[in-house]
Amino acid sequence: MTKAYKAARIFDGKSARAIEDGAVIVEEARIDSVGPATDLSPNTEVIELGDATLLPGLIDTHVHLVWGASAEPHEIVARESRTLTALRCAQNAALHLEAGVTTVRDVGATDGLSVDVAHAVEQGVLPGPRVVAAGRVIAMTGGHGWFLGREADGANEVRKAVREEMKAGATCIKVMASGGIYGHAEEPGSPQLTVEEMRAGVEEAHKANRKVAAHAYSVIAINNALAAGVDSIEHGSFLDRQTAERMREEGKYLVPTVSVYAAMSEKGPELGAPDYIQRKTAEVLEASREAFRLALEVGVPVAAGTDCGAPGHPHGTLPEELRLMVEAGASPAQALSFGTVAAAELLGLDNELGTLEPGKKADLLAVGGDPLKDIGALREVRLVVRGGIEVHSSDRA
Ligand SMILES: [Zn+2]
Repeated sequence: MTKAYKAARIFDGKSARAIEDGAVIVEEARIDSVGPATDLSPNTEVIELGDATLLPGLIDTHVHLVWGASAEPHEIVARESRTLTALRCAQNAALHLEAGVTTVRDVGATDGLSVDVAHAVEQGVLPGPRVVAAGRVIAMTGGHGWFLGREADGANEVRKAVREEMKAGATCIKVMASGGIYGHAEEPGSPQLTVEEMRAGVEEAHKANRKVAAHAYSVIAINNALAAGVDSIEHGSFLDRQTAERMREEGKYLVPTVSVYAAMSEKGPELGAPDYIQRKTAEVLEASREAFRLALEVGVPVAAGTDCGAPGHPHGTLPEELRLMVEAGASPAQALSFGTVAAAELLGLDNELGTLEPGKKADLLAVGGDPLKDIGALREVRLVVRGGIEVHSSDRA
């Protein structure tokens, strides 16, 4: 059955301007055509969305499905059964769909649960976004986020860890190049996995056509990760100009996760987040905005990711990340591209996702109003379609 989604505006992810009174024609799971809503064939089912904007389904490139935004989510996961953790993953997956997020990259899941979530969504067992899953993170012994993954020391152990994660079904890889906010005895700026260790992991991942994301805060850790050949720097809060220029030259992405620090500093105290989390959040809050502004100025490729699941930062908050990007100086069209086409490129899925173009998967989001004028319109979700199937709708006008 052919379907035509008609809306007052269409943002296709390629042009900064919307198509007025347009239609996206969908054939089964894929987009057939995008353009003005004229000459629709009579055996087409027309879905009239009215004064709405149709855009590509959003992509959040940094989530943790096992975490539920509580004060110390890692402590809860450590105490509970994996059945309960898996059920929380299902709840979190649904929150993404409701927010118009049709693809997520999970960059660290206890016991590799994100791989199972990815399979469950693929098999239609679970309603949720497509999941690109790193499985377990790879950290040095005692390194950042070891509880979301596994520890590995030395190039050979990291190489083997990457091979094992891919064997278990990981479709991307996450390495820890520096300390972070969680963990009592670490600082965000301290380097962790070495260049040699990460290089071995990157070599294995790239052989298998998987992208590598590196958690890195400080200039030294970011440069270690770049020297190892990773594809994206996650957080990157203490980025300097010289390193930003290197990232632009090498075409490496920054995923600035600005919304997580805003959420944690705003809601951390009332949630009862422990002092060590609150202190370190304050240290990176403004730095992360500065890093994003610098990336914009220098022209570093940027992809949007929220780090949702962290304290006070629930799943489905990509619209807030994009709003903060606009607040920090991006145009709404830029912010939308960071959460769609650029994110698809970072994931290596730009031939399938990220824009509204013939032949791509029919992942669509319709919102009330015009997010190219007011990015806040992304909260007015009317309809979400993933692979040609309606997965969420609110009362339509
Ligand atoms: Zn994270």
